[in-house]
Amino acid sequence: MRIVVLAGGIGGARFLLGVRAYAREVGAEVTAVVNVGDDLWLHGLKICPDLDSVMYTLGGGADPERGWGRVGESWTVKTELAAYGAEPTWFGLGDKDIATHLVRSTMLNAGYPLSAVTEALSTRWEPGVRLLPATDDRLETHAVVEDDQGQRAIHFQEWWVRYRADILTHRFVFVGAETAKPAPGVLDAIGTADLVLIAPSNPVVSVAPVLAVPGLREAVADAPAPVVGVSPIIGGAPVRGMADRCLAVLGVECSAAGVGRLYGGRPAGGLLDGWLVAEEDAGTVVPEVTVRAVPLRMTDEAATAAMVRAAVELT
Ligand code: GDP
Ligand code: CA
Repeated sequence: MRIVVLAGGIGGARFLLGVRAYAREVGAEVTAVVNVGDDLWLHGLKICPDLDSVMYTLGGGADPERGWGRVGESWTVKTELAAYGAEPTWFGLGDKDIATHLVRSTMLNAGYPLSAVTEALSTRWEPGVRLLPATDDRLETHAVVEDDQGQRAIHFQEWWVRYRADILTHRFVFVGAETAKPAPGVLDAIGTADLVLIAPSNPVVSVAPVLAVPGLREAVADAPAPVVGVSPIIGGAPVRGMADRCLAVLGVECSAAGVGRLYGGRPAGGLLDGWLVAEEDAGTVVPEVTVRAVPLRMTDEAATAAMVRAAVELT
């Protein structure tokens, strides 16, 4: 059995722990297609927050409290950068984390595509899952915001980390998406999968930029395998993070039904055959989609693997 998962960072990573546990049980292969819209260059280093969250989490090196970055991290470089007044000061890079970005940046500058770099970094972390960036090309999520400095587009990280999404926001733009190509292996993985899962990741700024790569949405919509999504919204609120603010920018209701309808049913030109919602959201209706209510809190690997089993049983 082959399982493909569309994923963002922390929610995607935690979900993948359960997918991997399920896959080990049944002998399945897992490919994760990961968002690159959050990626940015800082201090000459290429940072890939979502790929790193997934890689560190699956490799056992993530900080479980913070949710991002490395466990047992130190911040000497950050302090030294601050002493120089080096901008931006709102984005913290830990010392251990910086080693990852140094290796990645060196390889990218030497001409390796991000997919090859990710594979190289994965030989250390052995995530047990094939990690593919959605694209090797530049695709950056920007937020079009407005304040007393007027209207402008800022990088997603500035919007999320610096402004905490607390600024008038008109829309999101996936810069570079028109000319981006799916990374090698992505379309093939989706086309030959037995099951495609959409992780309970942020639908607006994690899953949408993956689907914005030309050909990727079509590949999922036309996949021979069933497509099942998992709601990141429980009882009308995100489990963590600011998906509510992101959905508000799109004018989409922050609910399991709202996100389910945003993805849409496949017969209606959308993506989903099945949609898992939390027990609190039993009774959710998404046109032309099989909806099932099950426990959706990823408290541990076993609970998360049970969600994956429920997704398989739905198909
Ligand atoms: P990010 O890129 O690090 O922001 O992470 P993702 O986009 O992959 O995941 C963020 C989403 O995960 C948020 O919208 C959360 O609501 C969702 N999430 C976090 N923990 C849980 C959980 O235990 N259950 C469910 N269903 N969703 C969760
Ligand atoms: Ca992210």
